[in-house]
Amino acid sequence: MKTALTIAGSDSGGGAGIQADLKTFAAFQVFGLSAITAITAQNTMGVFAVQEVKPEIIAAQIDCLFEDMDIDAVKIGMVSDTEIIKTISAALKRNNAGNVVLDPVMISKSGYKLLKPEAIEELIRSLFPLAGVLTPNLVEAEEITGQKIKNPDDMQTAAEKIHAMGVKAVVIKGGHLKSSPVDVFYDGSSFLSLRGEFINSKNTHGTGCTFSSAIAACLAQGKSLPEAVTEAKEYITGAIQNSLDIGKGVGPTHHFY
Ligand code: PLP
Repeated sequence: MKTALTIAGSDSGGGAGIQADLKTFAAFQVFGLSAITAITAQNTMGVFAVQEVKPEIIAAQIDCLFEDMDIDAVKIGMVSDTEIIKTISAALKRNNAGNVVLDPVMISKSGYKLLKPEAIEELIRSLFPLAGVLTPNLVEAEEITGQKIKNPDDMQTAAEKIHAMGVKAVVIKGGHLKSSPVDVFYDGSSFLSLRGEFINSKNTHGTGCTFSSAIAACLAQGKSLPEAVTEAKEYITGAIQNSLDIGKGVGPTHHFY
């Protein structure tokens, strides 16, 4: 059985973070492993408290997994701060991790900062060079490039800029562009437009986590990057179409529909 490791934060509400990642891996029949970077007290209404995990415990989780088994893909989500970023980068390098999907998680939909703003530079310096693919949403792509993104042309320019920063490929998620909700994939040689319909659902908690984990699951199964991104887009579309009205706030996407 293929394996995938998520290095991310825990969402007690089960809709995002580690919990969404493991559910996604299971839906793809890939065996899920996890290295927890932070514990959040969270539900569908928001994030109420965060406790970061000590860097040495994060490193120990990653090291003991690589020592024991072959890991076919890695997804990185919430990484909180500079120290944690450096720790993850060193651990992935010493374990020769491949098929790394980096979701540059910065802020939750409810507005909680999951990455300290001063850590963005370290994320670019330490983790971009290890990433096979980066999966920013529009806000994250704007933050990384310093460029405003208003339409798919702007997304292509931003994708080129991000690629020049050292990632092998990037897919910018345009779900928030209501007029044309297209995702733009760029691997340094060609662009791929992943078109989707705008799904009018309030229950979209954990969509970013789910999408990046679905890419990692497909890479673990040996699919090419364009195939993985295309299949992950289909998966997240179905997961949102079947999203769950659980809780009083923004409900989660559905993994087994
Ligand atoms: N909580 C954790 C631990 C996460 O990793 C993420 C996103 O990556 C979120 C919350 C944010 O989820 P959303 O913005 O989809 O509500």
